[in-house]
Formats: sequence, structure tokens, C-alpha cells
Amino acid sequence: MTDPLIFDGHNDLLLRLHNRDISPDMDGFQGNGGRQIDLAKARKGGFGGGFFAIYVPDPVNTHDEDKMMADHYDLPLPPEINWPDAAHVALSQAAILFQLEREGALKICRSTTEIRSCLADGVMAAVLHMEGAEAIDPDFHMLEVMYQSGLRSLGPVWSRPNRFGHGVPFRFPGSPDIGPGLSTDGKRLVARCNDLGVMVDLSHLNEAGFWDVAEISQAPLVATHSNAHALTPHSRNLTDRQLHAIRDSDGMVGLNFAVAFLREDGRMDANTPIDRILRHIDHLISQLGEERVGFGSDFDGATVPQDIETVAGLPVLRAALREHSVNDALMKKLCYDNWLRVLDATWKTPVEGANS
Ligand code: ZN
Repeated sequence: MTDPLIFDGHNDLLLRLHNRDISPDMDGFQGNGGRQIDLAKARKGGFGGGFFAIYVPDPVNTHDEDKMMADHYDLPLPPEINWPDAAHVALSQAAILFQLEREGALKICRSTTEIRSCLADGVMAAVLHMEGAEAIDPDFHMLEVMYQSGLRSLGPVWSRPNRFGHGVPFRFPGSPDIGPGLSTDGKRLVARCNDLGVMVDLSHLNEAGFWDVAEISQAPLVATHSNAHALTPHSRNLTDRQLHAIRDSDGMVGLNFAVAFLREDGRMDANTPIDRILRHIDHLISQLGEERVGFGSDFDGATVPQDIETVAGLPVLRAALREHSVNDALMKKLCYDNWLRVLDATWKTPVEGANS
């Protein structure tokens, strides 16, 4: 069997292109001039697409990866961002994705049927995701418009607090049990996402917020880009108790390649062997089962092991998995099938042609 394409739970390509403030095609995405993701690297590495995040960066950069090279750290959370500023950034980043689609670089998928077609045809599949709901107003007008535009996944918070809830600061060593749970608006947001069939992403949420979503949500619980706290005691990782709740809801976790969430010492050091990924996959599978683990790389948003480096390096990961006794059936589940199963159970878009 040829190795399957990887459909991935999280990338920050839109943030990278937005930061450049120039037209995406000029930034090299259509060739091989991107950083961790571009079309040439995707073809080389067998990257089939995934969730493309809208993310509103801090006006003042408090999120300094250099500070995560220390033995222990606790990065301050940035202040809340007001709605007009966040809405403006969200619209610009969504517009970049639409522009890429119009130029034929990828396809925005609103159903699993569309993702399956893209994977079959070798077209990059893009699911529009929002990482932190700062751009969503309490009347949910923006949510409705974004949904109609293609939004199919939303994390109520990135790590900084907002009107909907509280996220985890980047703390090592640290527990995710920091701060209060979802606000009343946050609980309404989860219910509205359930009604629309928008997936609710638990990555970045603190533990109290996690348990609020677990109680309210009618959908499988999903963390798009998080790892195992039992191996790397970082505040961004999930405890075994959280993993069991995800398993019991028949949800899943996308494994994050960001090295600080993979290493025992929590350092953001690219000199990290692929073995760290394998150990987290083993642990996630032991707690969740083979049906509930996939990838959530964080490409274009984080430092990943230097042997992978970019999406072009994904064959190195597949080879390591094979070496680690991952058979064809499990490889397919990890690479895309588990994501499709969870999205089939979460989205309300018709699955027309699913058996064709
Ligand atoms: Zn993230």
C-alpha cells in the first residue's frame, strides 16, 4: 500500500500569510517558497490538507518561543482583544483562504464528501477553523456569516481569556487546571456550534472549560492539537482523565508536533528525536484507542522536530511509524480516517455520495 496522505488537525498558514501583508501567491505558497507549508512541499510530503486556523495575534508579542527554552517557564497571558480588531483580522485571514481557493491552490471543504474527493484527487483540502472566538459577537451574527462562508470548527479560546472562557497559559511544568470555566456566553456558544454542526475544539482551553464543554456538548469531544500530559507535563497537554472523557464521547486528539509539548523537559528545541512523537502516539492510543488519534501538526505555527521540519518531511514520520510496527490499517486511521469519522459524526452537512 502506498502511504496515505495526511489530513491534519491544525496549521497556522493563514496567520503566516496574513503577517506578510502581501498577496499569498507572492509569498511562495503556490511554489516552494513557503515556510513549513506550500504546494510543492505538500506534494513531496503527502500533506493532504486539514484545518486552517484563523488566529488573531497579539498586538504586543508576549508569546516568545525563546522563553520556552528554559527549564521551567510561565509565559504571561496577553490581554483580551476587542471585537472590532479581532473581527477585522478574522475577515482578512478568511479572505486569504478564499483567495487561495479562487487561484486553484486548494479547496475549502464543508462536508466530509468534499474532503474525501480532495484526498482522492490530490487537491489540498482546507477546513476553515477559528482558534479563539474573539471575532464572534454575543449575538452570533459573525458565527452565522462565518458558518455560511465555510467555518466548520471553532475553539472557544486560544490561550488568552475572552468573553467565552479562559485558556491555559504556556506553563512548564504545569497543570491545565488553571482558572475558571466557560462564561454564560461560552456555554451558549457551544450549544450554538452544536446546532450548526460546527466542531468545538478543546485545545488551549483550561480544564474547567474542558469539563464544561464535556457536560454541555452533544458532539464527540475533540482536541485538534494537543498531547499527553502524562509524558510531558505542560499546561497545554491533556491529562489521562481528559483523554478518557474524549474516548467515552468517541471523539479524538490530533497529535501536536510542537516540540515543547513532546519533550519531557518542555523545551522548544528543534533538536528533538522523532521517537518523542512515537511515545506520545503510543500513550494516546493506550488511553483513547486506535480510532481516536490523528495528527494536529501546528505547522507554520510552531517549532517541530528538525528531522521533519516542514510538510515535506512527513515521509520521515511515516517511515518511523512503520518501523514502530504501525500497519496499513492503523496508518490510514492516523493519517485521515479518524478525522473523517469524527467529522461525519459532528457536521450536519449532508453526506451525499458517501457510499459512491
Ligand atoms: Zn494552537
